[in-house]
Amino acid sequence: MAQTEPGTDTKQHEFAIAKVYDPQIEEPRVQKTWAENRIYQFDPNHPNKPTYSIDTPPPYPSGDFHVGNALNWCYFDFVARYERMRGYNVHFPQGWDCHGLPTEVRAEQTRKIRKNDVPPAEFIQICRTLTEEYIAKMKRTIIRLGISTDWALEYRTMDPSYYRLTQLSFLRLYNSGHLYRGEHPVNWCPRCETAIAEAEVEHQERKGVLYHMSFDLENEKLGIASTRPELLPACVAILVNPKDDRYRSIIAKKAKVPIFSQIVPVIANPDVDSSFGTGAVMVCTFGDKMDVKWQKKYGLPLIRVITENGRLSIEDPRFKGARVEEARKRIAEVLSGQGRILKAEPHTQSVGVCWRCKTPVEIISRPQWFMKTMELTQVVVQSATKLKWIPEYARTRLVDWANSLDWDWVISRQRIFATPIPVWYCRKCSHTMVPKESDLPVDPRQGKAPFEKCTKCGSVEFMGETDVLDTWMDSSITAPVHAGWPDESEKFQRLFPASLQPNGLDIVRTWDYYLLVRSLALFGKPPYKTLLINGMVRGTDGRMMHKSYGNYVESGEAMTKYGADPLRQWAAAGGSTGSDIPFRWTEMDHGKKFLTKLWNIARYIITSTPQVPVERTRDQLPLLDRWLLSCLQNLIERVTEHFENRDFNLALEAVRDYAWHALADDYLETVKHRLTQDANDEDRENAQFCLHQSLLAICKLLAPICPHVADAIFQEMPKPSDEPQSVHTSTWPSPNKQWTFEGALPDGKTLIGAIALSRRKKAENGISLKTPIKTLRISGTLEQLKVLRENQEVILRTIKADTLDLSESSSLVVDISQ
Ligand SMILES: [Zn+2]
Ligand SMILES: [Zn+2]
Repeated sequence: MAQTEPGTDTKQHEFAIAKVYDPQIEEPRVQKTWAENRIYQFDPNHPNKPTYSIDTPPPYPSGDFHVGNALNWCYFDFVARYERMRGYNVHFPQGWDCHGLPTEVRAEQTRKIRKNDVPPAEFIQICRTLTEEYIAKMKRTIIRLGISTDWALEYRTMDPSYYRLTQLSFLRLYNSGHLYRGEHPVNWCPRCETAIAEAEVEHQERKGVLYHMSFDLENEKLGIASTRPELLPACVAILVNPKDDRYRSIIAKKAKVPIFSQIVPVIANPDVDSSFGTGAVMVCTFGDKMDVKWQKKYGLPLIRVITENGRLSIEDPRFKGARVEEARKRIAEVLSGQGRILKAEPHTQSVGVCWRCKTPVEIISRPQWFMKTMELTQVVVQSATKLKWIPEYARTRLVDWANSLDWDWVISRQRIFATPIPVWYCRKCSHTMVPKESDLPVDPRQGKAPFEKCTKCGSVEFMGETDVLDTWMDSSITAPVHAGWPDESEKFQRLFPASLQPNGLDIVRTWDYYLLVRSLALFGKPPYKTLLINGMVRGTDGRMMHKSYGNYVESGEAMTKYGADPLRQWAAAGGSTGSDIPFRWTEMDHGKKFLTKLWNIARYIITSTPQVPVERTRDQLPLLDRWLLSCLQNLIERVTEHFENRDFNLALEAVRDYAWHALADDYLETVKHRLTQDANDEDRENAQFCLHQSLLAICKLLAPICPHVADAIFQEMPKPSDEPQSVHTSTWPSPNKQWTFEGALPDGKTLIGAIALSRRKKAENGISLKTPIKTLRISGTLEQLKVLRENQEVILRTIKADTLDLSESSSLVVDISQ
């Protein structure tokens, strides 16, 4: 460690800045200073600071926060912190998407009940309590990760103040003709006993059996293949391809369904895949989306055989009440007994399952509320095309998804813990009545109807809607809610549309789609300007991270082992924006090593430069110093560009490389002697100036990614009076022309190369660096020799040699003699 000037306050610094960087001590300490000084608070009345608003997706309070979640939050935070330092008034809220299936399913699982086992009010209370527990747990992790959320803006979608706005958006969409109630087939989870949207249906490969069944066709037999014989009672037609020679003669004939004996027509349809099964398919109401299409197209009858809880509803006592899979087995057995199974072969197919509980979905028709999203598809696609996407390719996900949708969005759910649909029906004439905006929030499941009488028939009796809203109806209006909607005055204009919509690639088709379609319907414009999409996290084994794979890492575990800043470095460095990134403990280790290295550099600089250095002029600085400062300006320029492009991996790599190599390995090792008492004042002050400039800039450039270590150092280092106490309220640096020197980069590299080689040579010969030598011989190109000659004194002093011998050769070679 270097000697220090007498009369400085070095001692105090040595005392304040700990010898070893321990994230478990430093991170909570700086977090406390952030909270106490409320440095992340959005100022709604700031007169001239431009606003930057981030509409972060509120998570389901599940209690879990694995490293994949950490990746999401780090991305939000990198941007928030960067833009704050760029001079923006950053609006960075944190919400909780409380309602919906996940919480209900958890409540049912933890209490071992089904939703209807207890009164609704009690069930809601169980869900609320569970939600609060989970929120508290996740909030602690978010804070521990150092996310610069403005907690004054925290919200919960289950609060009446929030769901009042969900209901308001329902009323406005209803009154503007975007919503309707109707009976249409929808995806249905028989376990959760609710409708679910297309976006909530996942597809999984499932093994089944393809049964070739024999139907009677007048005087002949007709083979039909299906994996779902339990749908035979709902069979309403048989379709064949008119180009299929085998079946041309049977078109328009009638077939008799085995066991259930209904008579169904044979219809020609060119969409039938002749290569599947026997080439003849049965249409059942409803086996899949094709059935829905064909039932509608041919005006076929609708036969309901599956109940809302996934059981067969037919009268036949052999099958009545059986669960779908049991019914499949029993019907196949009866068919087999009748000699009607021609063949049964193993068959793997893609099955639609409930995203939450993985139960295969059924298609069930009952009255539901819908949003007319199909008529908005073109507007959605046009908007998505015009918006800025990072990375660009994520846009295709949304466009393809919007184009793939066949049905309007079903927004009603048959659940309990959710925003009530603000609708009553007249008991006499069934007329739909909605409350006034000033009546909200309402709960038609229990509250009294806010009407005198039916506007259609005058009846005074009403029935409240018992269905509730899809949770996406809550969470797809976060951007206008943050902006103060329904007040659309000045604040709204500033915050809406949001500057940034950051989220994972997995929710582009839900989150980004619902936000966009709702905002277009409500406000005629998109709710965000730029979308920042992060990839998915893979487990330590390279597979997608999942609890059941055993490759799942909790953020808390990672932070207990290494601290928040190493986890954040992993999030930044793991891969390019949008790409899937693997979780690696080695990366955490590398991050922690960097913190230790940086801390040691900082301690050294702060100890040897205990006060703000004296200002320098360009001409005063020797080549080495010019080189370092030029590298630094170059670094500032590149890192700024990387943050602008949201290339966090490149930004971090550049800062780490500068700190570790240019500053520590090359510069510091070479100038240590200039910081001793023996050095002359000018030499020392020049070096102090360069080191101080570097450390100050590193703190700032690193602040978005490693906010703890950056602030811990920044708070300790001597600073000019115009710098604030925390790095996070300081200004982002810009490259300074004053400290950029033409030619300093290549020349400095030559000089550093020669010094490094000379030191290595001494070490190889077992000579201590401090021991003087007689002659140092360096050969190099003419260009290199020119640089070395000009800096002869620096070389001799650094290497402690009496004379320098320079000679020409094709590359740098060093030799010494004692
Ligand atoms: Zn389900
Ligand atoms: Zn009426």
